[in-house]
This record gives sequence, structure tokens and C-alpha cells, in this order.
Amino acid sequence: MRRHTVTAAVGGVPIGSGHPIVVQSMTNTDTADVDATVHQCAALARAGSELVRVTVNNEAAAAAVPSIVEGLDRIGVAVPIVGDFHYNGHLLLTRYPACARALAKYRINPGNVGGKRHDEHFRAIIEVALAEDKPVRIGVNWGSLDQSLLTEMMDANARRPDPRDARDVTMEAMVESALQSAALAEATGMAHDRVVLSAKVSGVQDLVDVYRMLAVRCDHPLHLGLTEAGLGAKGIIASTAGLSILLQEGIGDTIRVSLTPAPGGDRTEEVRVAQQVLQSLGLRSFTPQVTSCPGCGRTTSTFFQEMAQQIQDYLRAQMPVWRSDRPGVEAMTVAVMGCVVNGPGESKHADIGISLPGTFEEPKAPVFVDGRLMVTLKGDGIVPEFLAILESYVTSRYAVSPASEPGVARSSPLASRLESSPIR
Ligand code: SF4
Repeated sequence: MRRHTVTAAVGGVPIGSGHPIVVQSMTNTDTADVDATVHQCAALARAGSELVRVTVNNEAAAAAVPSIVEGLDRIGVAVPIVGDFHYNGHLLLTRYPACARALAKYRINPGNVGGKRHDEHFRAIIEVALAEDKPVRIGVNWGSLDQSLLTEMMDANARRPDPRDARDVTMEAMVESALQSAALAEATGMAHDRVVLSAKVSGVQDLVDVYRMLAVRCDHPLHLGLTEAGLGAKGIIASTAGLSILLQEGIGDTIRVSLTPAPGGDRTEEVRVAQQVLQSLGLRSFTPQVTSCPGCGRTTSTFFQEMAQQIQDYLRAQMPVWRSDRPGVEAMTVAVMGCVVNGPGESKHADIGISLPGTFEEPKAPVFVDGRLMVTLKGDGIVPEFLAILESYVTSRYAVSPASEPGVARSSPLASRLESSPIR
């Protein structure tokens, strides 16, 4: 059960326990480069990011923000853009009112606001948010934790007869920083339901502990993310481990997976990973899921692995059209199995499934639809025949949305895929 929170609306996207957990992402372009940033924001949004954050780190970036939002609008991408501010947010937001207006939310890191003039600069940001009617995220990060608060808490801890571990005091300081900043925002006039909180760390156990503490001490929506998760499998697995524990406990209202892309890598991977975390936990559905076995000594070729990949690619390619035309298809399950040992059983549990012939098995592939054997495919055309059955299943099972235009012929990726299919 989700932890109860108020709802914070960010550019029309509701964040809170009464709403689906929101997937968000962040660009890594130079925000001052309008074309590159528009391009990447659009790619992230098309991959499924429901909010996109950009760094607003200097005057050129602040000046570019309105053009970025207009550029996205021109190409029909309506994703809300969030501004990430550190050190100079109070200056940029007051000097660049068009930037303040164009952004859907401001992220404030309380550890990077103002030093000795912390409260004054923090209030200046909140006053802009109030004038522009924008929500804020108070995003504490342990790499930039408010040092005066931490020192004060460490000193108090040292005076205790039973001092706590320094790590525990640091986690507590993160929670305090978030809550004190939220209280300061509200004292400045910000409505309670216009504040989202986060407290990001880079260790999984620390992440779980700090969010558990934060969750019981407020009802603000929480933005989850493992900061600096890292590269490749390490980043994906560490993020999944941390987020899954918290999400399973009902903690978390919006998530971001902070992967370090490989040089020249695809930034949208972080969106797909975030979606997959939510879908694997059964919290949201984004794309039909393919269940495929790992293969073993009963399979002597990569045939079924290639087929599983081809079907997953096909489903992903179809989703931009299906999302509007075929509501509910995102929850469809497809099984692609390597032999008859577990194949028919797994296929029966899926909406549609196929068991390919394993080594020394008869060259035939039973296809199950809604738990029943529908047909047994044979010969060289198993893949295209199965894809045709799959497309027919989607057409008949998921009703055409009234929002889609009747009579408009859409090109079918199936036809082109069949022509170019490497698997026969
Ligand atoms: S379904 Fe068949 S091929 Fe796949 S892992 Fe199980 S026994 Fe091996």
C-alpha cells in the first residue's frame, strides 16, 4: 500500500500517492545549446519520461530555457521541464523571469543555497516560485549536504552519553535538511502541497534508511533516486535494488534512475530502466512484456533468443501508436520459450505464447492464446506467422480508442519487419 501523501501538480502531472508513480529523467546536454537540449528532451519524453529536468547553471542556460520550452511545443512535445538550480538559483530566477515562467518546477538543493545567507537566498527562490505559481522540489544530496547543519548535529551527537554512529547522524541530517527547508518554504508562503522532497545518496542501504525516515516524518510526495548510480549493469542493478525495496514498501511517488551513459550512449536508457522497475513490480504498465527462458543445453542455436529480442523490439516499436490506439495493450504478456519442458506451461500463463522446438524435438511450435492451444506452427515461417498472430490478437483484444481517427490507414511495421526479418 502506498504511503499517503498530498498531491503536487507539476505542469499538469500529478505527483502523490493518489496517482501513478511518475517517471522522470534529466538531460546531459549544455542547456545553453537549445537545439541539442530540445532534441534530448524530446527523445526522453518520447521514451516515456513524464518530466524532464535540465540544469540551469548559468545565465546562458537561464536565457535558453524559454526557447527550449517553445522548441518542444513547436514539435508537439508537451513534457514539463524542471529546472535544476545550485548556488545561484536566486539570481537566475529573479534576473530571468521568462525562465522562471517557462519551467514547471524548480529543484532546490538546500546544501547549495547561499552559505551564511542561506535563508535569504532560499526565500528568494520560494518568492519567485510563489509569484509564478510553481511547485518546488527540495532535493537534498549527501554530496552537498548543508555543512553547518551537519556540524551542528555531529557536535550534539558527540555530547551524548551514547554517541551514535557518524553515518546515522549523516542520514538524520539529510532528513532534517529536507524537513527544515520544507518548513522554511511553507513559512515563506508556499502551500504544503507544492513541495516535493528527495534525499539522495549513492549507497543502497543508505538510500533505504534515509527514505524510510523521511517517509514517516512528512506527507510530502517523495522523489526517489540513487544518486551517481554508475555505469551499465552496476548502475541499473544498484538503482533497481534500492528503488524496489522502497517502492515495495509504498514509499516513492516519482523516480529517476541516474545512470552514467557510456560515451556516445543513449540517454533514454534511464527512462526504460525506470519504467521496467515499475512494471516488474507490478506498479505500472508501459510496454507489453516478453517472458523468455534463458536457454540451456536443450537449445543448440540462438534462434529463440533472437526471436524473443525481435518480438520485444517489435512491441516497443509499436507502442507509440498502440499507446493511443490500443488502450490496455501495455499490460499484455508474451512468452517466447526455448523448448517444451517449460514452454507450454509458461505460454498458458501469458496472454500469447510460443514454445520453439528444442534439440531433438519435433520441429513444431505450439502457440497458446489466452491459455489455450491455438495452433502449432511448423517450417521456416514460424517467426512471421507468430508475429501475424500477435498483431491479430492485439487488434481483436484491445479495442480501438475513440481518440484514434477512424479510416486512417497506419503503416504496419509488421509488414516491413517480415520483409527484413533475419530469422526464417
Ligand atoms: S524452457 Fe527448455 S530451453 Fe528454455 S531453459 Fe527451460 S528447459 Fe531449457
